[in-house]
Amino acid sequence: MESLLTDDQRKLRDEVRDFVKSVPRQLLLDMDAGVAPYPKQFLEEAGRRNLLGLRFPKQYGGRGLGWREEMIALEEIGVLSTSLPCLYSLVSIVGEALTHFGSPQQNERWLRPALAGKYAVAEALTEPRGGSDFFGAATRARRDGDCWLLNGQKRFIVGAEGADYFFAYARTSETAPPHESISSFIVERSPSVEVQHVYGLLGMRGGGTGRVYFRDARVPVDNLVGPENGGAIVFNQMMIPERMTSAGGALGMARAGLEIAARYADQRKAFGQKIRRFEGVSFKIADSLTQLDAARALSYVAAHAIDTNDEPGRVRRLVSEAKKFATDTSWKVINDAMQVMGGIGYTNVYPIERLLRDARLLMIWTGTNEIMNLLIQHEYYNELGRPSSLSRDVEADAAGWELPEEKVYE
Ligand SMILES: Cc1cc2nc3c(=O)[nH]c(=O)nc-3n(C[C@H](O)[C@H](O)[C@H](O)COP(=O)(O)OP(=O)(O)OC[C@H]3O[C@@H](n4cnc5c(N)ncnc54)[C@H](O)[C@@H]3O)c2cc1C
Repeated sequence: MESLLTDDQRKLRDEVRDFVKSVPRQLLLDMDAGVAPYPKQFLEEAGRRNLLGLRFPKQYGGRGLGWREEMIALEEIGVLSTSLPCLYSLVSIVGEALTHFGSPQQNERWLRPALAGKYAVAEALTEPRGGSDFFGAATRARRDGDCWLLNGQKRFIVGAEGADYFFAYARTSETAPPHESISSFIVERSPSVEVQHVYGLLGMRGGGTGRVYFRDARVPVDNLVGPENGGAIVFNQMMIPERMTSAGGALGMARAGLEIAARYADQRKAFGQKIRRFEGVSFKIADSLTQLDAARALSYVAAHAIDTNDEPGRVRRLVSEAKKFATDTSWKVINDAMQVMGGIGYTNVYPIERLLRDARLLMIWTGTNEIMNLLIQHEYYNELGRPSSLSRDVEADAAGWELPEEKVYE
């Protein structure tokens, strides 16, 4: 993709690489070992370097860049695996809601300190009763004077450990249909917001993932983001960064796994020659590289579609495709990297086993890849409802076209 990048984008990439290089190796090891529960210093350093929320307005401390730039940054940060990139991405996800639906006062109060790395944020969507069925949320917000009172629980919340505030959704109407009964709030950390650590995770360790209880959590009316009962539009907007950040991080993880395995195969010998000389090994490298380049290209197209305000349905389709393909690819590339390395790839002598554990999550979170399929085919059928994109009636280019009695559909 090198030829697609501008000089400024290359400069940004170098800047992000420099930041990634500065992350202490021991921090990664401690996070994976569960010794470092929440790496606040990582966010502070990213904020100090003005690398958080690259797409957001300069007036709040962002850089006013586009999705292409964010994807470039995300891929670089992705080589740190999932926990740190996820904490990095949460600023982009929560910031999306604030910049699209927040008032200037809300952006001053909540976005600016998040971009500066001073406030850590978390997003609280998923509930014990279900993540895919988001609009079935059971957390409730009841109006009480100039506050809302939130009650309910959220689970699997990354960054819950260190969050200064949560971007949370709750039901605000008991009578409206599900898509018109949810609202979104900024919920500050307080004694009525309890975080519990109950999960033993396969990967994604050290990101402060917790269960969050709201127990009569008082939320000032000023902390409602977007319209009351209008959480659906906020949710749909947030799903763009939610899924694009998964895609971007996945590219970095896969690139790291592939490079480690390819270098190994160029040194390791079996039967008197380097293992990369065996077709069983070198073709895995070739397939991985091809798939990774294709995943990156698709992700860049999705980024371009967002940046150029393409129609919402097509943006949703491309973003879902990018999330699905990049995360499936990441899993496959890293799994093949382990195969290329044989037994040593399964040990912690190399980080492939950690990348593999972490990559597995990418296909589950931010909307499972089955949910991505649901969205992709849905949007495609919407597109098919319009005049055909084909320049001619290709269906008629068949010798048996004029046999209508053979065209039986039911
Ligand atoms: C480590 C970790 C970190 C996370 N971080 C966060 C976070 O920070 N904030 C947050 O809010 N959430 C977070 N999540 C939650 C995550 O997004 C959900 O787990 C995910 O959306 C799936 O929801 P679920 O686990 O309830 O599974 P379910 O929704 O119960 O789905 C179970 C299975 O059913 C399938 N399925 C469900 N509905 C359909 C359908 N209509 N068509 C086809 N298949 C379907 C799914 O694809 C899946 O295979 C995190 C999860 C984990 C494990």
